[in-house]
Amino acid sequence: MKKVVLLFSLLALTDSFGQTDSLKYTLNHRLNSDKIEIIIDLNDVEAPANTASLVIPRSGPGTYDLTNYIAFVGDVKGYTSSDKTLNGQLSIGSYFTFGNEEEPLDRISYTVDLKKMETDLLGGFASSKLRPDYLGILGYSVFGFIEGHQDKPIILEINTEADWPIFSTTRPSITRKNGSDSYRIDNFSILADAQFLIGSGVQIHMVDDTEIPLFVATYTETAIDMKEIGRRGKQSLEGLANFFGYVPMPHYTMCYEFLEPISDRHDYGFSMEHLNSMTASFSVERAITEYDPKARIGGIIHHMGHSWIPLRSYGVGYRPFEWQTAPLIETIWLNEGFTWYVSFYYVLNNKNIINFFQQNIDNAPEYIKTKSLRELSLLGSTQYSLDFNIGRNLYSRGALLAYDLDQLIIEKTNGSKSFKDAMLGLLKWTEENQRAFEYEEIATIISEAVGVDISETWARWQNPIK
Ligand SMILES: [Zn+2]
Repeated sequence: MKKVVLLFSLLALTDSFGQTDSLKYTLNHRLNSDKIEIIIDLNDVEAPANTASLVIPRSGPGTYDLTNYIAFVGDVKGYTSSDKTLNGQLSIGSYFTFGNEEEPLDRISYTVDLKKMETDLLGGFASSKLRPDYLGILGYSVFGFIEGHQDKPIILEINTEADWPIFSTTRPSITRKNGSDSYRIDNFSILADAQFLIGSGVQIHMVDDTEIPLFVATYTETAIDMKEIGRRGKQSLEGLANFFGYVPMPHYTMCYEFLEPISDRHDYGFSMEHLNSMTASFSVERAITEYDPKARIGGIIHHMGHSWIPLRSYGVGYRPFEWQTAPLIETIWLNEGFTWYVSFYYVLNNKNIINFFQQNIDNAPEYIKTKSLRELSLLGSTQYSLDFNIGRNLYSRGALLAYDLDQLIIEKTNGSKSFKDAMLGLLKWTEENQRAFEYEEIATIISEAVGVDISETWARWQNPIK
């Protein structure tokens, strides 16, 4: 008996990617259904049913938002190795449990109601999308994980209509498989960060002559010019590469949706950054239709710029991420403000942007002005875009701190160093330490990177504005 079990385990431990100890996720999509099905095969990962919980994210890094994705999850079932079916029970947090059964779980399945998700979430950036010729999947809005197993490698299989092509930001390519495709993904956090654009309504464009493979992936309900989106992306990438001196992403995808608003309360203004991609969910009014040399590309530079900071250098709370809640983050002003400053002041060479940041601070409501930098960031952790007084004051304070640091560093080093060296210092520190920096470490990391004591400027910006 034991030998037979061992033999079976060895077989099960190696999958088609030659990967051991991995979980298998399957996403099943059928035409004319408002729901998709997710199956998680545990592949002999030890998970007794009575202690297992299926966690559904309530937020994602960089959203600074609490989103109750579990509200769209239903039909949760667990299956034991002897094929008992257990009903998932909604628990007190953002997770399901499976009763008292001691047998290990073999797999879990659930459905996600995408129609309800898009209807209920007013921010276009927050939801996956479903149309007659399109399925747009935002990782953290549909994928959950078994608590304790979020660091395991994942094999993801997607099954859709036989003639629907599948595109993924994890392995972008202009050649797409139809109907079904599989991906090897390092862990849950990479899966949650990924987007999948599926269907005959999706168009892919690969931009010519770029430092890294650069893709535009779109679903649109109006006429657009993909090459123009690509041109703006290329210009943005070149500007950032010139500033930082290197490009850390292996490839990059600009995911654009141009949608007929599904109601007049739905908002399509915000975009989201990811490790190697950005997701812009716009209304058809903002369609990019033709070559425009004066087009504003600050938004693209900003979101692409996040692939340096915070995606590859970040404070506590950003990563590892607490998926069951929207964690309190003290460094949103750094993530946003430093990126705003670099994007506009340097890459776009718009020196007047400083006045805009100052105006945001001067015109802030009382409840914003009386908050310290840290307090405002904690407040923004769950309502950055919901109350954009909070959001824009966070990035404005961060950007003006960056500006003051820049002036100080240039003055003290006779122009041999600048704020760029502060950014590179943070990136190098994360590369070497492989962890999030603590709040108290930031001033020291920057001071050491630029060889200037920044503590006075740093301390001044920690205070409330009033
Ligand atoms: Zn941002």
